[in-house]
Amino acid sequence: MPKAQETILEIDLKALKHNFEYLKSQTKPGTKLLAVVKAFAYGSDANEIANYLQELGVDYFAVAYIHEGIALRQAGITKPILVLHPQAVNFKLLIDHCLEPSIYSTKILNEFIEIATKEKQTHYPVHIKFNTGLNRLGFAENNVDYLISKLKETTSIKVASIFSHLAASEDLTEKAFTLNQIQSFKNISEDFIPMLGYKPILHICNTSGILNYPEAHFDMIRTGIGLYGFGNSEKENKHFKPIATLKTIISQIHTIEKGQSIGYNRAYKSDAQMKTATLPIGHADGIGRQYGKGKGFVTIHGQRAPIIGNVCMDMIMVNITNIDCKEGDEVIVFGPDSTAEQLAEQVHTISYELITAISQRVKRVFL
Ligand code: PLP
Repeated sequence: MPKAQETILEIDLKALKHNFEYLKSQTKPGTKLLAVVKAFAYGSDANEIANYLQELGVDYFAVAYIHEGIALRQAGITKPILVLHPQAVNFKLLIDHCLEPSIYSTKILNEFIEIATKEKQTHYPVHIKFNTGLNRLGFAENNVDYLISKLKETTSIKVASIFSHLAASEDLTEKAFTLNQIQSFKNISEDFIPMLGYKPILHICNTSGILNYPEAHFDMIRTGIGLYGFGNSEKENKHFKPIATLKTIISQIHTIEKGQSIGYNRAYKSDAQMKTATLPIGHADGIGRQYGKGKGFVTIHGQRAPIIGNVCMDMIMVNITNIDCKEGDEVIVFGPDSTAEQLAEQVHTISYELITAISQRVKRVFL
């Protein structure tokens, strides 16, 4: 692997293939796999990732917003794309790009039927979302009769799937709650499908749900974080390979004398002579200020170097007093050995937040 000469996010497509195949192997034959590629495929690169997953045979994609779906269509994605959180203002654009909305409220249902009818659509695929306990988006279980009566009034739309989302599938102390969500979803589908008169795709599992509740895979699994190489516990992690390595280099090394300060606001003051390295990566690249003041770290030649002082927009300074390194040497911010999850834990957050924050200014390099 060539050494980094600037800040890059290296994406290992072989690792992505491994994760995809592992998740597939956990399901019964015929179970569809939906890849969640919102937020630039969790901060990697939605277009490249989605195209590769399309080659691998993924069945469905999901994004959060309509403009994310449009970008995928423009990048050559032909598979169905579910838009999880569409806003009515863009429904015409959604139809123009053959994107499929999640219908989560009466208001959204009425607004979509109105536009689909105006656009002379027949049987336009939509996905009905039920709230089974996350209390974020979705119809209540007792909305089934109302929904069916609305659906029977129109030929503009058809139900491609009904789905729900688990609140705590990673947390086995919440098993009773999750099983309850799964049971509610079963009850809803058992009421809904006979009244609808045809069988839509059923889906509820995210990555942790796929691993911990195999009985709840239904017709399709929806996976995001697993594809990118993480689970939500050590046990889950061991099945996956992180696909992204954030690398940078040492721009400059300084010897700091006792009593001198480092960086903005003089946030670090040295109590002995020390060596620092300045790296070309900062909060505008996705390493937020919370990683400063000794919380975050990078790895140089296998050794941890803590981030000292405040994180700047385009730079961080790290303590390399005990590390044998020189200007131009490669630095790993996170990767398969020193993971995004470990770094995220330093500031009490999760891998999802750190990886989706890596800004578009960081060059993506595909292996
Ligand atoms: N389904 C929905 C509705 C989501 O919002 C998400 C992610 O936020 C996922 C599936 C994928 O979850 P995970 O990344 O934990 O697999």
